[in-house]
Amino acid sequence: MIERSLVIIKPDGVKRCLVGEIIKRFENAGLKIVGMKMVWADKKFAETHYKAHKSKPFFKELVEFITEGPVIAIVIEGVHAVDNVRRLIGSTSPHQAAPGTIRGDFAHISMAYASAKGLGGKNVVHASGSKPEAEEEIKLWFTKQELHSYKTVHEEHVF
Ligand code: UDP
Ligand code: MG
Repeated sequence: MIERSLVIIKPDGVKRCLVGEIIKRFENAGLKIVGMKMVWADKKFAETHYKAHKSKPFFKELVEFITEGPVIAIVIEGVHAVDNVRRLIGSTSPHQAAPGTIRGDFAHISMAYASAKGLGGKNVVHASGSKPEAEEEIKLWFTKQELHSYKTVHEEHVF
């Protein structure tokens, strides 16, 4: 039940200086950071990351958006980490993301608005959608040496 999930603070989150605010949400919940770095993804890397969306009408704009500046890539570990991280980030379209979630608190636009403007949907963060997706994404973004095993106090008090 202990899982790892990939979180990316997207270029809009980095440029808006929300990195600390976002990381705090995961740490407050007792989830553990086991890997973290700043990366400026190139087009090819972004296309690989989002390959499942290759045939979607928003693919080109999405790749442009995710490569417009550096991102923070984080591997988060915890009990049901994939579902828990998705719960904390909220729905894909910020206008449907509940208040209290990262997307609901730090953005408000809809994917429809972004599409109408010919832009990628700026929703502050990415998180793996399933356990297999998480395993594939973590392998793409991190080497084994960049991931760490250690104990947090939460393992005694929150687990
Ligand atoms: N996206 C977009 N337009 C859409 C749907 C999605 O620009 O109509 C972008 C948005 O940034 C989203 C990403 O594509 O986060 C990946 O879409 P997915 O459905 O996987 O949502 P997520 O898993 O990020 O919630
Ligand atoms: Mg997804």
